[in-house]
Amino acid sequence: MGLTRRQFIKRTAALTAASLVGIELPRGMREVAQAADVDRWEPGVCRFCGVGCRVYLGLKNGKPVAIKGITESATNKGYVCMKGMLFYRIIHHPERLKKPLYRERKDQPFREISWEEALDIAARKFAETVARYGPDATAYYGSGQALTEETYLFQKIMRGGLGTNNVEGNPRLCMASAVGGYLTSFGADEPIGSYANIEKAYCFFIIGSNMAECHPVLFRRVMNRKLSRPDEVKVINADPRVSPTSRIADLHLQFKPGTDLALLNAMAYVIVEEGLYDEEFIRKYCKFKIGKPPKDVSFEEYKEFLKQYTPEKAAEICGGNITPEKIRTAARWFARSKATMSLWTMGINQRIRGVWANNLIHNLHLLTGQLCKPGADSFSLTGQPNACGGVREGGGLCHILPAHRPVKIDKLRHQVEDLWGVPRGTIPPKPGYHTIAMFRAVNQGKIKAIWINCTSPAQSLPNCDYYRKGLRRDDVFVVVTDIFPTKTTELANLVLPTAFHFEKTGVYGCTERRSQLTVKVVDPPGEAKPEVWIVREWALRMAEHFERLGDRRRARNLRICVKPFLGKEEGYELPKAIWEEYTQKLTKGRDNDLSGATYEVLRKRPDGVQWPAPTEEIALRGGTPTKFVRGIDPLADKHPGTDPYVFYGPAHRDHKLYIWLRPYQGAAEEPDAEYPFYLSTGRVIDHWHTSSMTGRIPELLRANPYAYVEINPRDARKLGIKPNDMVEIETRRGKIVLPAKVYEGPIEGMVFVYWYDMEESRMANRVTKDAFDPGSKEPEFKICACRIRKVSGPRPLKPYVVGHRI
Ligand code: SF4
Repeated sequence: MGLTRRQFIKRTAALTAASLVGIELPRGMREVAQAADVDRWEPGVCRFCGVGCRVYLGLKNGKPVAIKGITESATNKGYVCMKGMLFYRIIHHPERLKKPLYRERKDQPFREISWEEALDIAARKFAETVARYGPDATAYYGSGQALTEETYLFQKIMRGGLGTNNVEGNPRLCMASAVGGYLTSFGADEPIGSYANIEKAYCFFIIGSNMAECHPVLFRRVMNRKLSRPDEVKVINADPRVSPTSRIADLHLQFKPGTDLALLNAMAYVIVEEGLYDEEFIRKYCKFKIGKPPKDVSFEEYKEFLKQYTPEKAAEICGGNITPEKIRTAARWFARSKATMSLWTMGINQRIRGVWANNLIHNLHLLTGQLCKPGADSFSLTGQPNACGGVREGGGLCHILPAHRPVKIDKLRHQVEDLWGVPRGTIPPKPGYHTIAMFRAVNQGKIKAIWINCTSPAQSLPNCDYYRKGLRRDDVFVVVTDIFPTKTTELANLVLPTAFHFEKTGVYGCTERRSQLTVKVVDPPGEAKPEVWIVREWALRMAEHFERLGDRRRARNLRICVKPFLGKEEGYELPKAIWEEYTQKLTKGRDNDLSGATYEVLRKRPDGVQWPAPTEEIALRGGTPTKFVRGIDPLADKHPGTDPYVFYGPAHRDHKLYIWLRPYQGAAEEPDAEYPFYLSTGRVIDHWHTSSMTGRIPELLRANPYAYVEINPRDARKLGIKPNDMVEIETRRGKIVLPAKVYEGPIEGMVFVYWYDMEESRMANRVTKDAFDPGSKEPEFKICACRIRKVSGPRPLKPYVVGHRI
């Protein structure tokens, strides 16, 4: 079947729309259209969200002209959303950065310079900063969108070369609480099971996630499962907002923002009170824990603790439409179903008690034994395509070294130093700055040189106006590597143009522990270069500058760090060598063992490999779909005993799962007389994060040209606000003005704003709060207090992004 590109786009748009409204499509539509006029199709992974859809890039005369989903894919079964289908437009987009740009001072205009000059400036500034202020005056801030090879090499140079743990990444803003939850409940990061559980689940508990818009292709799988057995499969959606996800729910639990800890404890109360728990699972595999440092408690003490959260008490705390009977129904469905799968994301993670909220979801699975069996899983959805593979696993956060090694554990740190060949003592034992601390340190002038890769903190940090002040300082040298101008390049001294997806080679590890390779098939535009080349050349030049400054130790360490990669061609051989070092040396013997997943294996298995995959043979079979299950997980098989499960997670030496006693705690900033509304923020299906990429694709921009504020009709009536009126949202941080969308989405007393818009007057993070979870250090984007008022009737608005007529 050959289709024109217009038909192709229309068909996939229909798929997206159907996902949103819960329509099942005829089977024929699942074969996503073949765009006409394509010479060849090259396989790879989608560039955007954490679902990790497999796609073909269509090329005509060597130029990208289309994308389609791969029907045989384990992740997406042929589906793609509109973002995924259209990202090929970015590849040769006219606004791409094509030459290095530099300015000494931030009030000067940029001038184009050569790579030679650019790399020398970056090397000199970092070396001189280390010489003058010490290594902790430098920092790297990366991204869950960078390839694993890129994150691994950046952090190797910062740690093994410069000797600082100031290595952070934007996944701190979206999934750090999920990491904290997995480590404290299961002793091991990342989900136990796979997407394949969706087709085997009988109850979905979707909490704090609008997956219809944020993980649309996975939501399609959930929707298909629900529609295939409408009476048997139950969907519970718990959220303060009615979203497109709620439309397939049998039960929608709408609670006041921040009260979900009470709701989750109340569900546990019902499970315990009504004897719906799995006594054998708890006895064999679980312990009850409280406090910090953690203390063992008994099941009886847990029962006593839960008495504070009877459904009646919780319904009072939660408000909204929550009744004791709804809580009981949710708990019964959860516990009694043949297999329950929980799915959540930022609504749970972006909170000052995000780790606790994660723990309380896990508790429900541990109490009921809804784990490790087909269809049963406690499954956190990840936002970015490589937050798991690159940042969580590759060492991209300030407290972890590659392959889940906490930096503060001497033995593990020394392992890394030995594997890299740098002297012991090179990597400091103290974690570096986490994201908010890092940008506070920039504000305070403690960090003097920062490299920001593939992300735009000037727009994505909460309370971003405050942090932009630091980035504007002239005594802070800012390097940005990116493909387009962003709000952050506006504050840079040096902007380095990078290659985009399919213009370079590397691996993304998606939400289900699956690593998938995308190979370079087109050249980057102008002088744009892959990051791995940029980092290697920068490190070599830094070595020369350290030599000049008399710091032979750092010069030697930097040369040792890049030695395995010298002379490698950057399009394929260089990332391959980096991947080999990372997987063969660093992951070997760890819980995320990927030593069997060589580039050769990944090319043979385009569906990728799920870790652990300690041998090529296992990797060629696809790796491990479910961790901890004997007969499925090769690492579980290594342990003596006959129990079906072995919870060998490295953080729990007792091999137990922990049921936590976590009390209800509200938000850092609750509404009051002065600021009487809750403000929450989130994403829209057509835009990716700051929209610096999707805002440049006309079809996506046209669908959502600017952000708006959602207001409940009862609140709108009280305030005299009508649809499209301009509304000011004011918090203790500042004000923004957006058009109003009046509908029964947000709970009464709450407004909801999309954060993708780059237009200053509509930039949501100018008003969000930078309070963070004390454990995960993840900020509470989801809740702060605001006041709202109508400032005018409807006004004509322009989208931020330039260069396109819409
Ligand atoms: S669901 Fe995510 S990974 Fe899949 S096509 Fe859409 S953006 Fe890409």
